[in-house]
Amino acid sequence: MKILVTGGAGFIGSALVRHLIQETEHTVLNLDCLTYAGNLESISQCEGSIRYSFEKVDICDKENLSNVISSYKPQIIMHLAAESHVDRSIDSPSKFIETNIIGTFNLLECSRDYLKTLKDEECFRFHHISTDEVFGDLKEPTEMFTEDTPYRPSSPYSASKASSDHLVRSWARTFNLPVIITNCSNNYGPYHFPEKLIPHMIISALKGEPLPVYGNGLQVRDWLYVEDHVRALMLVALKGKTGETYNIGGNNEKSNIEVVKMICDYLEELAPFKPKGVTRFSDLISFVDDRPGHDLRYSIDASKIQNELDWFPEESFETGLFKTIQWYIDNKNWWERVISGEYRLERIGKKK
Ligand code: NAD
Repeated sequence: MKILVTGGAGFIGSALVRHLIQETEHTVLNLDCLTYAGNLESISQCEGSIRYSFEKVDICDKENLSNVISSYKPQIIMHLAAESHVDRSIDSPSKFIETNIIGTFNLLECSRDYLKTLKDEECFRFHHISTDEVFGDLKEPTEMFTEDTPYRPSSPYSASKASSDHLVRSWARTFNLPVIITNCSNNYGPYHFPEKLIPHMIISALKGEPLPVYGNGLQVRDWLYVEDHVRALMLVALKGKTGETYNIGGNNEKSNIEVVKMICDYLEELAPFKPKGVTRFSDLISFVDDRPGHDLRYSIDASKIQNELDWFPEESFETGLFKTIQWYIDNKNWWERVISGEYRLERIGKKK
């Protein structure tokens, strides 16, 4: 199969590209404009493969996008490119509207034009990768998001993703574009950009810096190891029913403060040394002002994908977190180059 992945230099996209090249025989075109979150060093393992290619294209540039799609002729488009950080969407929402809404609109239009050129329309599908944050938060402790839960996004990020989901559904209904949507819970794992909760806490602790927890830390998220998400995405892309939506979740609900305390406990065992002045990693925890509009609890009912596609996560939160912490300890060079800006400067030819 020829698969076009948008956002393949990001956290989840890079895990998907690594999986496709290392574990399957599919051919992959990675289309990414390399924002601050894109990192080709996360997929350096794939660069020598004749089944892998990369195009630096912005999904907001419709002409370029259309040229790439019509010359590559993908059988599946897996659309992950997005602005993805909630805090950035609060500080500066406009990029989220452009990429997540206009960029998705461009991709849908280019896919529609491309579909008209195909003799066998059965040979194409558009897989839109989205988030559980489109549903807003849950008030009751036993409630869960199903595929039928109404959308009630809270942040500019989740509102822009909700808009893109609506566009995708309407292109299916109005223009018969063969689409599938997945809505997944919070991912974690290797190559996660250091601004996100889990890598931020691991790296700060290793450096002996404060571990800032929003509000009272009682916000609950359902955590899924990124490679489990990738396996779910592949099953949906290849075997899911066109026109359907699938929720994906890890059944691992944890409050933010529980996650941070677990990281501290695991680091007591795994960290090669204690930073100067630190007795216990948990002494670094500090509570800071809450994020405006912070959702309290997310929880995914993933029974549809489990029953229909026989997908189940392989990692528990404990095993996945352990692997993730070990990865950040072993791959200091990757995150130091991201944080120092050295990687970006080298890429644009301005070596430090
Ligand atoms: P990320 O921020 O790590 O990566 C996004 C990638 O998209 C980067 O490589 C970036 O360069 C690229 N990109 C951004 N704007 C672009 C543009 N205009 N044109 C081309 N490329 C562009 O994001 P992620 O965490 O890997 O998330 C990937 C997708 O999965 C997103 O759509 C996100 O909404 C969704 N999702 C993420 C999570 C999560 O926990 N991270 C959970 C559920 C769903």
